[in-house]
Amino acid sequence: MEFSKQTSLLHSKYKTDPHNGAVSVPIQHASTFDQPDIDQFGPYDYARGGNPTREALEEIIADLENGRHGFAFASGMAAISNVFMLLSSGDHLVITDDVYGGTFRLTDKVLHRQGITHTFVDMTDPAAVEAAIQPNTKMIYMETPSNPTMKITPIDKIVQLARRHDCLTALDNTFLTPVLQRPIDLGVDIVVHSATKFIGGHSDVVAGLAVVKDDALAGELHFLQNCFGSILGPQDAWLVMRGLKTLHTRMEASMASAEKLAEWLLTRPEVEHVYYPGLEGHEGREVNELQAEGPGAVLSFRLKDRESVRRFVQSVEIPVFAVSLGAVETILSYPPTMSHAAMSDEERDARGITDGILRLSVGLEKTEDIMEDFTRAFQQVASVKEKDQ
Ligand SMILES: *Cc1c(COP(=O)(O)O)cnc(C)c1O
Repeated sequence: MEFSKQTSLLHSKYKTDPHNGAVSVPIQHASTFDQPDIDQFGPYDYARGGNPTREALEEIIADLENGRHGFAFASGMAAISNVFMLLSSGDHLVITDDVYGGTFRLTDKVLHRQGITHTFVDMTDPAAVEAAIQPNTKMIYMETPSNPTMKITPIDKIVQLARRHDCLTALDNTFLTPVLQRPIDLGVDIVVHSATKFIGGHSDVVAGLAVVKDDALAGELHFLQNCFGSILGPQDAWLVMRGLKTLHTRMEASMASAEKLAEWLLTRPEVEHVYYPGLEGHEGREVNELQAEGPGAVLSFRLKDRESVRRFVQSVEIPVFAVSLGAVETILSYPPTMSHAAMSDEERDARGITDGILRLSVGLEKTEDIMEDFTRAFQQVASVKEKDQ
């Protein structure tokens, strides 16, 4: 019988240990493995190239994403760097203009040293993507929904363009996770994740993942993973697997809460704009509905100015005010000085990352408690304003 991903994730071949029945994947710390003879090798030799605990995670994520090969890295940025290392000097990369800040920095500050050129482009517009493609373009890199303005890229359209121009496609699926979006089913070649976020889910591990379907591409990525060595350690691989067990349930609960909060924030006079793909009128909402099973659990909203943001942040009690997202606790962050600090003021302005914007990653608290907390904080913002006048 074929079960849903939610069920099969918990009942994979790693459900129990074949040696002793343990209902948890053992953490194998060995850095090297005994070899039978000078020309005979077991399934593992040196742990940079392969480790059974990491391999369990790699198989589980490959299955969840409907790929065939998974790779676990020391961080999301390590996964993304390895994917970019598929490119060579002279190649060109087309990349979404409101990409994650760390990916922006890597592209903007490092890739050109390797002789790899790039063009940032608004990926919501396939015509703009096509116009950016050059004869030497080898990869198109997407992130949808984007961060922090939650713009939606039409994945299938970009995949068609890439195929016509013989480019690889890569997509950062951190925000929606395979619970809500499976890019490989839409023809994307490489899916990457910061598993630090929803997949890990508990703000206690930094990790990255990549998944591909094609065997030859997997061979290249494995070669690069072993060359660069930015692998995920066994203890951290175990933490990510533990997080994955509740991914579906956490995603569903956080998303339901995010939907309620987005609607509620719309009704608040202090809020100038709410960015959430689940909202009526959000640009790209229909595209997201076609390609994903939900709008996710991250939203952004805009207050009047930086001072209002400061008061609000100082007044709220529930959210952790921090860089990161996708955890059991609600996380509030200020993109201009946090996730998008690597961008210049002009670059942020061009992307709509204004001084009043806050990003909210909704966790598992009771939604009404967050509303109450935010109502109090909004009152603080308003009362200070009145005193100032
Ligand atoms: C956090 C994040 C990354 C980077 O991942 P790390 O694990 O922090 O290296 C990449 N993409 C997105 C969308 C992220 O949110």
